[in-house]
Amino acid sequence: MKTECRKRTSKPTDPYAPVLYSHHSISELRSKLSCGELSCTDITNGYLLQIERKKHLNAFIEVFGEEALQRARTLDQKKDHPTSWGKLYGVVIGIKDVLCYKDHHVGASSGILKGYTAIYNATAIQRLMDEDAIIIGNLNCDEFAMGSSNEHSVHGRVLNAIDESRVPGGSSGGSAVAVQADMCMVSLGSDTGGSVRQPADFCGIIGMKPGYGRISRYGLLAYASSFDQIGIFSKNIDDLAQVLSVIAGQDAFDSTCSSAAVPDYTTEINPEEKYRIAYFPQSMEHPSLDPEIKKNIQDWMGEMKAKGHSIEPVDFEYLDHVVPTYYVLTTAEASSNLSRYDGIKFGYRTSQKTESLNELYKKTRSEGFGKEVKRRIMLGTFVLSTGYYDAYYAKAQQVRRLITDKTNSIFSQYDLIVMPTTPATAFKFGEKSNDAVEMFLGDLYTVYANLAGIAAISLPLFKHSNGMPFGVQVMSDRLQETKLLSFSTQAMKS
Ligand code: GLN
Repeated sequence: MKTECRKRTSKPTDPYAPVLYSHHSISELRSKLSCGELSCTDITNGYLLQIERKKHLNAFIEVFGEEALQRARTLDQKKDHPTSWGKLYGVVIGIKDVLCYKDHHVGASSGILKGYTAIYNATAIQRLMDEDAIIIGNLNCDEFAMGSSNEHSVHGRVLNAIDESRVPGGSSGGSAVAVQADMCMVSLGSDTGGSVRQPADFCGIIGMKPGYGRISRYGLLAYASSFDQIGIFSKNIDDLAQVLSVIAGQDAFDSTCSSAAVPDYTTEINPEEKYRIAYFPQSMEHPSLDPEIKKNIQDWMGEMKAKGHSIEPVDFEYLDHVVPTYYVLTTAEASSNLSRYDGIKFGYRTSQKTESLNELYKKTRSEGFGKEVKRRIMLGTFVLSTGYYDAYYAKAQQVRRLITDKTNSIFSQYDLIVMPTTPATAFKFGEKSNDAVEMFLGDLYTVYANLAGIAAISLPLFKHSNGMPFGVQVMSDRLQETKLLSFSTQAMKS
């Protein structure tokens, strides 16, 4: 993209304000860097200043300021040789506190990992670095990515920048707010049941999780391994496509990661193609759906039809089963994954005197984990226990199979599925924190994609009369992210 290049003449009073608002995409940033209007140091300073200004939102746990500037200065040394620039040269990125960044603290916003430092890079982080991105800090989230409001973090809650009395969503609340409030250009989160799409919806930005196996999970602290995927937050589809192209693809360190070739999503996007789209009448008629969200999405579906896409109802009889199935299976996997945090191998250990190893485990885990994580470990242990296994865990696996079969049959006839992202807009702090079931039910529309392992994106197309933004969710089959991004590009333009 060609953008006008302006040399800065006078010294502005706020030296970095023009930096932040001078580019709206990675491509624009690249043009500004190549004509010398900006340097990587300018960019980094601009975001660091904004992070300082928006500190009260509590999105960042730690800012790697000096180090990011040092890296920017190193990158600036090759400023006159654009052919040597990586694909993400100078792009400032924030990462959720569940991604290992070598020699930096990683803690899943939990007390149990207090003092723990990553000893290797997550594959996704390594790939960002290899393409000259600048990692600016790690971002607050719900403890071990369990939650929908970012109220369960040892570092305190994150505020929604549009209305600070409301939650940013969760669990990747810090990652969403960091992009929402221009504290970095793009950010990474993780999505086990909606943790990228739901906060993106609540904050008015784009959030996408690719299909299961598209991005390596190596170096992602596990919540529920058969559901977890790294996801991306951005303000436009092109940035998201660029980052996805870099971080997706086979990895020898993760055998669940697909060996399928990774397209260059930025060039493969087709802004003209018409798609066959399905929607579930059960999702639009659900009693928990806010009538205003329903109306906006219905009208929007009409517009998409008028633009030449086909949109048809498809019966999906499992909608009321997705939340229970998700919570049985993910808590079971979590109870197993989180058993490694015992006070011996990582992070926190109780300082109380203990008489036995068992007591040390018990005290450490009782003190180190927060309430929500303990609830889920107990629930997961229960559904896996002798006498209950068949009734809960095995049954939920069977339901997951039915959901997957149904999904495969839908994608044999349709390219995409559309659904609301959330039943309601961002709620006030404290409004749901005493009612776990109500909080869980808010995941109605997002957990389906993780159960089926398909790709999903939330597009920030609407504004509610209560002043809050909301999105629509679009899903494609696994490894069909190009279709998803092509349609999203069209939808974002309309
Ligand atoms: N809100 C969901 C949960 O609490 C999703 C979490 C996630 O995707 N990590 O489990």
